[in-house]
Amino acid sequence: MESKFTEVYQKTSEEGHDTDCGKVSDMLDLVIDGEATSEEQKFFNTHIEECVNCFESHQKHKLLKGIVSGHLKRVIVPESLAFSIRAKIQETL
Ligand SMILES: [Zn+2]
Repeated sequence: MESKFTEVYQKTSEEGHDTDCGKVSDMLDLVIDGEATSEEQKFFNTHIEECVNCFESHQKHKLLKGIVSGHLKRVIVPESLAFSIRAKIQETL
């Protein structure tokens, strides 16, 4: 179990930064704005299923965009939830 985890971790960090993670982070804005091509979208989705770092940064960007553009107001968000989301973002940034 432990050795398998290490193997996966090493593989991800080795391949990651210069290639897929870089592409994914370049794509973030396009994907969130819905401007990515279906091919890019597919690549992106596949990647964030495997890569926690990119998944988290996607979540963070989505939240940030939601707050900035006011999308969260259309969804019914209790004040306390909105507050904890904001606190969480500040915490993780
Ligand atoms: Zn990644």
